[in-house]
Amino acid sequence: MSLSATTDASTQALIDRHDASLSPNYKRFPVAIGRGQGAHLWGVDGKAYLDLFAGFGAPLLGHCHPELVEAVTGQANRLWHVGNLLHTEPQVELAERLRDASGFDARPFFCHSGADSNDAAIKVARLYGKANPGASKDEHGRYKVVATQRSFHGRSFGTMGATANPAVRHGFAPLPPGYAHGTYDDVASIEAQIDAETVAILAEPVQGEGGIHVPSPSFFPALRAMCDKHDLLLIADEVWTGCGRTGRWFGHHHWGVQPDLMTLGKGVGGGLALGACCIAPRLADLVDPRVQGGVKHATTLGGNCLTMAVAAKLMEVIERDGLVERAARVGEQIKDRLRDGLAKAPVRDIRGLGLFLGVELDLPADTAGAKAREFVLTAMDKGVMVNGTASGVLRLAPPLTIEEDDLHRGLDTLIEVLCA
Ligand code: PLP
Repeated sequence: MSLSATTDASTQALIDRHDASLSPNYKRFPVAIGRGQGAHLWGVDGKAYLDLFAGFGAPLLGHCHPELVEAVTGQANRLWHVGNLLHTEPQVELAERLRDASGFDARPFFCHSGADSNDAAIKVARLYGKANPGASKDEHGRYKVVATQRSFHGRSFGTMGATANPAVRHGFAPLPPGYAHGTYDDVASIEAQIDAETVAILAEPVQGEGGIHVPSPSFFPALRAMCDKHDLLLIADEVWTGCGRTGRWFGHHHWGVQPDLMTLGKGVGGGLALGACCIAPRLADLVDPRVQGGVKHATTLGGNCLTMAVAAKLMEVIERDGLVERAARVGEQIKDRLRDGLAKAPVRDIRGLGLFLGVELDLPADTAGAKAREFVLTAMDKGVMVNGTASGVLRLAPPLTIEEDDLHRGLDTLIEVLCA
């Protein structure tokens, strides 16, 4: 299956220049995008698309949201970056907004990606485990992190070991030690991975890359209780689920627990490179050079004024426009619509929370991934962008601002493609 309508001369010319000049590490579709607005994209050939999987969740308010454009251009004319030995207001404003939305006085360390945020969280956990060695006889104290099967936490050297997918790690050994995996949504299995050197549990409130898996309501509360019992830190990886995506400000709010560390990426930057490792106040001293003597963690461009101004505005717009509640409401509508429309399609399950949804194909595991890619290509040919994971799950993560008419038009197309 190929994209029939999009390999015109202008697209092909860009693809040729691309292939001659970039690292080939992404498996890209033969589509070149020149412009975006809201949930709409236009190819360099002029073809229009409705974007139901906006930039892997990063342009949370859609493409070129006018208020974010104004925020970034206004800030660009004032101040870009001064380094983290000085104070700047955009950083403070974003930190205050994250603190208020998180409900646990989260103290963010700003960096550039989801992997960066998780690296920072794992480093904080190791500092905690060194300061609180418990029964560990290891010279480093407690340093191990237990993550979950099907998880995704990044591809940096610090996070590859936490990411469960072996394909992510393949070829990069030796990796830093200190990771184990239990079964998602099964506290006993996670507890069985704990030993005297374990210091933290790392889990997504809803698994994203693993195929949109929503845990049972008791999972996170039980995980929290287990962490408290063994003096472990609970790290909520909210890189996908943060900032309203799932119909609550943060994914862990669904489960009524408070993590010790919450990591953000993707949507928090609205499409700019931003990560944030939000640290509970009781842990903040661990990274404070005035307390510990010496800088414990840093990054040069973290908290630069441009990304801070955009993210602060993004948080303001989400709150002002009630986009968290809207995501919850519209997400339920989408599930109903798909359950109805796909009743006769080769679909095993429709699941997710808010605007973070998955349609699992009812196909054998060895063909489901390829078939999902085929459906994605057919939908793209018809002007609708969705995503497929290797496990044969089609994913929808439209911008929180998507117009309902557009959304239903996109769902019509998806239903048509899956029922054909
Ligand atoms: N954590 C989760 C839950 C993710 O889904 C991802 C990426 O998909 C990451 C971390 C890594 O984020 P990034 O690609 O920004 O490094």
